[in-house]
Amino acid sequence: MNNNPDIEKAVRILNESENVAIPTETVYGLAGNIYSETAIRKIFKRKKRPYYNPLIVHLKSYSEVEKVAIEIPEKARVLAEAFWPGPLTLVLKKQKNISDLITAGKDTVAVRVPNHPLTLALLEQLDYPLAAPSANPFGSISPTTAAHVATYFDAKTLFVLDGGPCINGIESTIIGFDGESPILYRAGAIPIEAIENSVGKLSVFTKDDVAPIAPGMLSKHYAPTTPTILTSDMAKSLLDYSDKRVGVMSFCKRYQNPAIVHQEVLSSQGNLAEAANRLYAALHALDSQPIEVILVEKAPHTGIGIAINDKLQRASVL
Ligand code: AMP
Ligand code: MG
Repeated sequence: MNNNPDIEKAVRILNESENVAIPTETVYGLAGNIYSETAIRKIFKRKKRPYYNPLIVHLKSYSEVEKVAIEIPEKARVLAEAFWPGPLTLVLKKQKNISDLITAGKDTVAVRVPNHPLTLALLEQLDYPLAAPSANPFGSISPTTAAHVATYFDAKTLFVLDGGPCINGIESTIIGFDGESPILYRAGAIPIEAIENSVGKLSVFTKDDVAPIAPGMLSKHYAPTTPTILTSDMAKSLLDYSDKRVGVMSFCKRYQNPAIVHQEVLSSQGNLAEAANRLYAALHALDSQPIEVILVEKAPHTGIGIAINDKLQRASVL
């Protein structure tokens, strides 16, 4: 029996087909009972998420995977054993009773076991898995703290289970399968190299191939409201925008320039995991400043840097 009052409150709300914002190690999720059409519809409505964009199902353990998926490839089992609980989502053939709302009408379902003690304790108390996309309006910056969630949704109408800041800070890596062959659908918190070490080479879908099935790959996503420009030459971009009030998000260096009104350095030590962890909080902070343009610097394109650059690309207009 768990007697954390916040978890008990979350259980009560979820049992009434309502949504709760839940902490995970990636970003906060907007969760609902996978077996309640009412709860799932509310997720789409709150997020203003188009119905073609499927949700990730969160399980309490690997032992539950057969409740939602069938014909699980051997390599999916190997990956689950290596990375669950953790920021890896597997796209598997769905069980018949998984709603088309969750899968956007596809015959596959995305599943993972999140690695957050509060959410695992919550899942332990429930008779059903939770469907949860990120707890932000469609297309905007993902939330990595309970306070970010509260900037998007009225605290009176949405209970946020506060589990502190998300440790990884960017979305899960998504892997699907063509028969037994693993395919990268979305770069994320687990580096591609780590996945390839356990199951061998991944094939990568190009944006055009996956756009309709994995909208985390929509070209405009994770976006601040301030125009955002991605650059690999910050010194030059600062000259180009010297007549504007500029916000800067740099990887490790602090830039000096009179045009800079606000600056976020992701990791002064140049550590990619720290940069990923701080990415969305830095974008939220910049987006709340009185600036005209945000210049964001590309991270080194290796390890989690690949996922960081992917998010930055989608957050930017150029
Ligand atoms: P979010 O949690 O907001 O990042 O949204 C969940 C993401 O999971 C979606 O945007 C898709 O990219 C991905 N996803 C969920 N279900 C599927 C599926 N059946 N096939 C491919 N991608 C999926
Ligand atoms: Mg999202």
